[in-house]
Amino acid sequence: MAYIRFFMNQSQFLFEAAKKRIPGGVNSPVRAFRGVGGEPFFVKSASGSRLTTVDNQELIDYVGTWGPAILGHAAPTVIEAVRETALRGLSFGTPNPLEVEMAETICRLVPSVEKVRMVNSGTEATMSCIRLARGFTGRSKILKFEGCYHGHVDSLLVKAGSGALTHGHPDSAGVPAELARLTITVPYNDADAVRAAFEANPGEIAALILEPVPANAGLYLPEPGFLETLRVLCTEMGTVLIFDEVMTGFRLARGGAQEVYQITPDLTAMGKVIGGGLPVGAFGGRAEIMDQLSPDGPVYQAGTLSGNPIAMAAGLAQLREMERIDGWAQLEKIGAAFEVAAREAIWGLPCTFKRIGSMFCLYFCEGPVRNLQDAMGSDKVRFGKFFHGCLEQGVYFAPSQFEAGFLCTAHSESDLSRTAEVVKANLEKVF
Ligand SMILES: *Cc1c(COP(=O)(O)O)cnc(C)c1O
Repeated sequence: MAYIRFFMNQSQFLFEAAKKRIPGGVNSPVRAFRGVGGEPFFVKSASGSRLTTVDNQELIDYVGTWGPAILGHAAPTVIEAVRETALRGLSFGTPNPLEVEMAETICRLVPSVEKVRMVNSGTEATMSCIRLARGFTGRSKILKFEGCYHGHVDSLLVKAGSGALTHGHPDSAGVPAELARLTITVPYNDADAVRAAFEANPGEIAALILEPVPANAGLYLPEPGFLETLRVLCTEMGTVLIFDEVMTGFRLARGGAQEVYQITPDLTAMGKVIGGGLPVGAFGGRAEIMDQLSPDGPVYQAGTLSGNPIAMAAGLAQLREMERIDGWAQLEKIGAAFEVAAREAIWGLPCTFKRIGSMFCLYFCEGPVRNLQDAMGSDKVRFGKFFHGCLEQGVYFAPSQFEAGFLCTAHSESDLSRTAEVVKANLEKVF
């Protein structure tokens, strides 16, 4: 082994060891770089907009730990809150004051949330929303959109066969076909398909779940009127409208995408930013629905570490700092500057750039990109070359064409101008 190590850098050496004991060498599949080829790098520390790899390469980071690091990595206020809270104990398994403060903060920032419960991941949040919607309505079927990701929940790892009325089949081995059949999938931005699905399943659809801004197949936006139509249809049909704001929540605005688009969902799934980098999720909404949860109601839901004091402290510190500095206004400015540079760089090339606030995506295809099928038209091979070129020059974008990029308040003008240079140079190389 020692002589092999001689020919490897630290990341390669660690990845070899990881592959022996961790499936695929990673604890979450996208980290394995399968979308772009090659091998992942290992990080030893992160600060602000930068990652430092175990081989001492410094990278300008546009992944931000997949969204949570909205103030940049290791934001001093967040670190301080974690340090101070940890000294008083890591977990109590009893109610603690920070849970109340977190609940009040979420309800204040997201007015559609009248009551909220904390969980430990975004997946747990969407899973709990689905069970709650089923318990509340007494119905079984779920309607979702192609290309919207809601974590690795059985009922939500489902793709439709073809056409609006086909019932789903599993996207993953291990999801029973019987369960997948309860999930109906339609294309995003297609209100007629949603209407048709409701008509074909009268009185049977418990919930319609969506990312109000889909950001797990790259990034595309809801067309004018689309979200409004969903709201009207769900009200008419007695279906629970669930916004999965695990990514957009506390990022696109204080109150997330529902504030930007002025839509009031019945339930909201949250995560990422509210944890400040610790494992946190939350779900909440109309009190009438939330009151169905145990111990008050018949829908069971629980968690040993839910509402963990360290996690609450980290999330609260991050949200407090975002409010103090009006981080959302800063991010819009940074995003606008980033967009100007990106549009200049892709001028005349068959590329499509999408941005809303601090989220962005560069597709290697002509637009428009308005749903999963359009996004799939992107040239992944070209993207992979572009990705590796940028990485070599110190700019880290998400290692997949089908992930959004994230800006944070720590991205400086010099980060952006260096990034613009690197992007331009690598676009020239791949076209
Ligand atoms: C990341 C994400 C999830 C899953 O959250 P985890 O914390 O990874 O379980 C769910 N929905 C959306 C929209 C996400 O972006």
